[in-house]
Amino acid sequence: MGRYINLLLIVGIMLSFIVWLIIMTKRKSKYGLNFKSVYCPVCDTKQPMIRVSKNQNKMLFGGNKCSKCQAKLDKYGNVIS
Ligand SMILES: [Zn+2]
Repeated sequence: MGRYINLLLIVGIMLSFIVWLIIMTKRKSKYGLNFKSVYCPVCDTKQPMIRVSKNQNKMLFGGNKCSKCQAKLDKYGNVIS
């Protein structure tokens, strides 16, 4: 009986996390996910899906720097000032 309660708890936490991720993605929060291709709003260059960054914060939240015009972009393709 006890292990079923644990299982329910784990499933509940996972579901809450997935719902939270979906909400964050819809709000375009830095915690959200973006699977769409990002184009630089400045020079219209397609940004690579896999972003390599030396900055840990950028790596975690998927920031990017345009290789063509050096504009700083977030993972949704918005310019970060
Ligand atoms: Zn650019």
